[in-house]
Amino acid sequence: LLFDLVKYCRQLVEEVRLNLKSQHLVNFSSQYQSISCYMDEKLLGHILSNLLSNALKYSPDGSLVNFNLSCQEGQAVFEIQDQGIGIPEEDMPRLFESFHRARNVGNILGTGLGLAIVKKCVDIHQGTINVNTLLGVGSNFIVTLPLKKYNMR
Ligand code: ATP
Ligand code: MG
Repeated sequence: LLFDLVKYCRQLVEEVRLNLKSQHLVNFSSQYQSISCYMDEKLLGHILSNLLSNALKYSPDGSLVNFNLSCQEGQAVFEIQDQGIGIPEEDMPRLFESFHRARNVGNILGTGLGLAIVKKCVDIHQGTINVNTLLGVGSNFIVTLPLKKYNMR
């Protein structure tokens, strides 16, 4: 379906803010006003809502979650950055496995399925997912998805 990615992400962030049960600051930024493209809205929703919910869940109340949308070489680039607990090196190889949870989650609840779903959706889109993380400092999840036919301004 043809739709505007910038508008979609803005609306998603607005919803996240309305449903927030914490004092997190959720920031959305993009250098574009509009990126219209063909994309599966449902799959994109699964990807972004899981990454945003993790960013909130694994970071201290009141901290900042940054969501940036950009576009390069025919790819949409989604970056979701938090100031949270980070992910230990030893858990990185199994990060996208179902039911795997990192050793530093403490009493934060979860089933370990979110990122497995994200990875499936990214693969279906023939996209990529990368993580930069530092223990006790934060994590940055970067997803790229090909924009088959698009217009941006
Ligand atoms: P759920 O199925 O409810 O999403 P979950 O959050 O535990 O449960 P995933 O979203 O799959 O599962 O994440 C897997 C694990 O990766 C988490 O348990 C956590 O250890 C780690 N993780 C994911 N995102 C982050 C993040 N932003 N910061 C720190 N650790 C994270
Ligand atoms: Mg999760």
